[in-house]
Amino acid sequence: MTVNSSYHTNNKRLTNRIHTLSQIGKIQETGVRRLAHSPEDVEGMELVKSWMEDAGLEARIDHFGNLIGRWEGTDPQAPVLLLGSHIDSQPYGGRFDGPIGVLGALESVQTLMEDGMTPSHPVEVIAFADEEGARFNKGLFGSRGILGEVTEEELERTDENGISRREALLRMDCDPSQFSSSVYPPGSIRAYLEMHIEQGPVLEEKNEPIGIVTGISGPLWLTATLTGFAGHAGSVPMHLRKDALLGASEAVTALHAIVSEHSPAPTVGTVGNMTIFPNSRNIIPESVSFTIDLRDIDLDRRNACEKKLMEELQAICTRRGLELDLQEDTRSDPRYCADWIMDYMKEEASNMGAAGIPHLMSGPFHDALPISQVCDYGMIFVRSENGISHNPAEFSTDEDIAAGTELYYRTVKRMLQT
Ligand SMILES: [Zn+2]
Repeated sequence: MTVNSSYHTNNKRLTNRIHTLSQIGKIQETGVRRLAHSPEDVEGMELVKSWMEDAGLEARIDHFGNLIGRWEGTDPQAPVLLLGSHIDSQPYGGRFDGPIGVLGALESVQTLMEDGMTPSHPVEVIAFADEEGARFNKGLFGSRGILGEVTEEELERTDENGISRREALLRMDCDPSQFSSSVYPPGSIRAYLEMHIEQGPVLEEKNEPIGIVTGISGPLWLTATLTGFAGHAGSVPMHLRKDALLGASEAVTALHAIVSEHSPAPTVGTVGNMTIFPNSRNIIPESVSFTIDLRDIDLDRRNACEKKLMEELQAICTRRGLELDLQEDTRSDPRYCADWIMDYMKEEASNMGAAGIPHLMSGPFHDALPISQVCDYGMIFVRSENGISHNPAEFSTDEDIAAGTELYYRTVKRMLQT
């Protein structure tokens, strides 16, 4: 698929906006640091708000810190078509994670307005507050917020400077006591559409600029603790040891083997964090805690992996004389994209000369995850160079973003025509 001069969307305008926004909170040559509710984040929101207003949208920032630009429908009471992503970033983040979804949505809506379209349903472009969760260690804040899922406890969480979420919101003129006025009542969102960089290597490997997301894989997060017995590293013979780290190492390898059996399926399993006690050079490790992250778009396959892993953990403990303690941290089901939206994308991709566009699942979360609980949703992925993200080196080409935006525009148009 190549860039096509017959694109409807104004890609020069889009590219300029992505570049201009990337200058706010800029770090190094290509990085961005726009932590949620920070002065940089607010400056970015104000800039995007001004572009929304230029386009003719009615724009406001709600009490969760979400930026919302509304294109009124001929039936203002009809459920809204919600389009967007986020513009906050990781502390050491890139220029594209989030912004292409907000600015691509704005470009699509602006083009539809310039086309002279009048929708019956209202359309809103939204930049969700604090998707990343880096500052207060809990993300998807704005998207959970509009569903009424934010708890009081979350407001008291503090950042590394001791500033609470409540305080950060108040500083940007948001009022947590008014949250309920910013909640979308059940049935008020018709559907949600998000474009995002892939943040993985699948499209690059397939040599494709864009792809249709089939769903967001639900993660299973466990913390396993293996307990053995500490002893002097110099005196306890090998056959008498109860070495918790040895058992944990075997568990890491076992997880890898169990998950890899399903390759090339998108099943993934990771041990990303490990704590060793007492963590000393000359003591046999007594206990080791480690995290398990298991994800798949196919719940049966994920469950089968989990079952096998449990059997393997038991076997390791028996063999090594260890005790096993398991804690379940998160167990989410996969959330599937709506068939009717994927069908529009497929047809429109084919109209763009990109028949056979790849379908892929999303391993990472997105704002679409909470929103998927209340309405149908669809997602478009744009190729990430080397699969890099959450890093200043994150990169997607203007051409790939343009292709994604054109497909987004066409999909929105189809959704508004039905
Ligand atoms: Zn993102």
